[in-house]
Amino acid sequence: MSTALVWFRRDLRLADNPALAAARDAHEQVIPIYVHAPDEEAPWQPGAASRWWLHHSLVALHADLRRRGSGLHIAKGPSLQALREILEATRASAIYWNRLYEPAITARDRTIKQALLDDGVDARSFKATVLFEPWEVQTGQDQPYRVFTPFWRKARADLQVRPPLPVPDSVPTVALDGSLAVDDLDLLPRLDWDAGFYEAWVPGESGALDAFDRFLESAVTDYAKERDRPDRESTSRLSPHLHFGEISPMQIAWELDERARPEGQAARSTGAEKFLSEIGWREFSVHLLFHFPDMPEKNLNARFDEFRWGEDDPEAILRWKQGRTGIPMIDAGMRELWATGIMHNRVRMLVASFLTKNLRQHWRHGAAWFWDTLVDADLANNSQGWQWTAGCGVDAAPYFRIFNPVTQGEKFDPDGVYVRRWVPELADLPASLIHHPWTEPDCLEATGYPPPMVDLAESRQGALAAYQDLPKAG
Ligand code: FAD
Repeated sequence: MSTALVWFRRDLRLADNPALAAARDAHEQVIPIYVHAPDEEAPWQPGAASRWWLHHSLVALHADLRRRGSGLHIAKGPSLQALREILEATRASAIYWNRLYEPAITARDRTIKQALLDDGVDARSFKATVLFEPWEVQTGQDQPYRVFTPFWRKARADLQVRPPLPVPDSVPTVALDGSLAVDDLDLLPRLDWDAGFYEAWVPGESGALDAFDRFLESAVTDYAKERDRPDRESTSRLSPHLHFGEISPMQIAWELDERARPEGQAARSTGAEKFLSEIGWREFSVHLLFHFPDMPEKNLNARFDEFRWGEDDPEAILRWKQGRTGIPMIDAGMRELWATGIMHNRVRMLVASFLTKNLRQHWRHGAAWFWDTLVDADLANNSQGWQWTAGCGVDAAPYFRIFNPVTQGEKFDPDGVYVRRWVPELADLPASLIHHPWTEPDCLEATGYPPPMVDLAESRQGALAAYQDLPKAG
């Protein structure tokens, strides 16, 4: 009987899984495996919130596989050694996996593929986690794109939406001893911090499909208009599901065509098209990280290497992390993050702008905190998001665009619903005060909420002055 291993990584799903589908087509027996080797992702080993998600996603995948007559065999790394041991024990002749594109992972996978091919194993990898591999979208001069709009124009024109690959009815397998249990990976936090995660999320493929269904049935129509509103359920909340590959971008593109197209029209609705372009931002981040592998550590715009950041201020950073800055929108976002592992995109921009501009702390401090606390922490999206907001990315908001968290709050959380939810001390304030309670000192004192840790106007001027000192673009 011919046997293939399917090496699951961040493609923790059965539907539209090219490696699984190819193994199932070509072999009589398939052994699904997961190798835990976080140190191979150094220096960006998964943070605490990602590990929480991974734990539950592995449990879900194992259960889904059990229902199809199989199960997930779990081993600890080093990956190459673990794969070789399983290949030898099962006499499997092939191993299939889906590609990832972070620098440390691509380097490791390249070495593993070559070593296994040299061993005589049929080692194959597939495209599954993106619509376009990072090298598939190139400028007319065969260069990577550095600006989103032309990148997406090209990608969008080339996009061939295909139906998702079906979930296999069964996964006939070989009995294999020695699997670890998910618990043995010790992924859950020791600190009692994740209680709110259980209320907010259902990790795993069925959780992903349910979240997407809910979005298609409600928010997609008004997505273009409403997506900046943190006080409403206006976005899909698919980011952790996408990061762990519990749903593929191709499934999303396909379903948008099938279910978000107005009756009798060939084109997607405006909401659906806008939503697809956000999936395009995810593609762009992957593209940038692949072509600029230093992006998590270095400014994409080298001019910012000369930028005069403020002195490192651990106390200020701590107040930011704990949501005690005295600026309601910032504190609401940071507390939402701590409680649920997520933060609305608009609020991510506000807290990132506040840290890097009003507090003038290096964006790497913020990126590292997000890395540890976001359930959707993603090296490409997170590095891109921080560099974009800090102004040092390739296609970034200009540095001098400094978000004002008061006027942004008034615009995107006009009744203070979002602030009241996450900063309950302020719940009884009227909407007219909620985004700047310090303007009525008596009211502020009664709430016990702190005054602002910096003056927004003065700190803005300080940031603009530091920007003026930058060498001019050549
Ligand atoms: P929706 O609005 O429903 O969008 C659908 C999907 O499109 C998202 O799930 C995501 O995969 C993708 N997407 C949306 N906006 C962006 C964007 N601006 N850039 C890249 N992809 C996008 N996203 C992460 O997935 N992981 C991160 O670690 C991350 N860090 C960020 C840090 C900063 C400072 C900023 C400003 C943004 C960051 N983002 C990150 C992007 C964005 O905030 C989240 O993807 C989005 O808030 C997730 O919510 P959603 O799934 O409801 O989004």
